[in-house]
Amino acid sequence: DATKTEHRSFRLYKEGEDEAHLERLNLVEELREVMAGTTEELFMVYQPKLNLKTQKIEKVESLIRWIKADGTFVSPELFIDLAEQSGLIIKLTHWVLDSVLKQQASWAKSNLHLKVAINISAQDIAHADFIDFLFQKIDRYQVDPNLITLELTERDIMTNEDLVVSRLNQLKRLGIQISVDDYGIGQSSLGKLKQLPIDELKIDKTFILELDQSEKDQQIVSSTIELSHKLGLTVVAEGVENEASLNMLREMNCDHIQGYFLSRPVKSDVLIEWLGAYDA
Ligand code: C2E
Ligand code: MG
Ligand code: MG
Ligand code: MG
Repeated sequence: DATKTEHRSFRLYKEGEDEAHLERLNLVEELREVMAGTTEELFMVYQPKLNLKTQKIEKVESLIRWIKADGTFVSPELFIDLAEQSGLIIKLTHWVLDSVLKQQASWAKSNLHLKVAINISAQDIAHADFIDFLFQKIDRYQVDPNLITLELTERDIMTNEDLVVSRLNQLKRLGIQISVDDYGIGQSSLGKLKQLPIDELKIDKTFILELDQSEKDQQIVSSTIELSHKLGLTVVAEGVENEASLNMLREMNCDHIQGYFLSRPVKSDVLIEWLGAYDA
């Protein structure tokens, strides 16, 4: 009867929920172990950005990857989110900073002084030890702070605005650049952003992926670029997948582009090879 069915479906729903919850808990536990261990399940990849003004590759974005020993790919969107919810993000970002700065030091040995844009979360920047930790790593690996950009989303900045702004000011005084990631999908207006200590705006890829097909996206992107420049901000377009979009962005006076059309995010050795081929 009806009551029975209701009861049954309720239980099924609950079981499903518990299962998903357990799976997430397991994943967080696994991540914790992987971070503490010596396996290479966790690693960084780097995606080049093209400076449209100089035609040079001066900068890459670092992106984390987790491929389990059995070959399973775990999406960064998923595990970064879990790390944020569980508080593990602080340790994960420590791991990322160590890994990226070590890589920069190794590039510098072969006279490659690439700028790297590192993604961080709201909790990182709010954490009391964040700047100390970053500068410990900068000292340890002897990396020029001018070669480091931190990428935060609008939401990351707005969630704890006063504290975040004071941290960003501190970081900027120390030579670190600040970029606003995924711009356009959040709540803030450019007018709001102009009061913030930021250097760069990254237009979210949802506006770029089909730029060549969508007049609306073209309107949004070109006016964003124009306004950003008036505010003294550099503009990066992420998610450039074809040449038509790249050419449009060049027309629109966009400063940097990043996307599969140029290169996917790749491991350091592939990047070095790619850079060599690009120069030639
Ligand atoms: P994000 O910072 O906005 O990174 C850009 C995402 O777009 C990356 O996804 C990149 O692989 C992807 N992408 C780049 N070019 C193209 C393109 O032409 N087309 C399409 N469709 N996608 C493109 P990914 O690597 O899966 O990372 C997803 C998100 O996970 C990142 O978004 C960032 O929010 C987060 N994330 C990744 N690595 C880290 C990290 O080391 N620390 C933190 N805190 N978050 C990270
Ligand atoms: Mg990013
Ligand atoms: Mg983004
Ligand atoms: Mg993102």
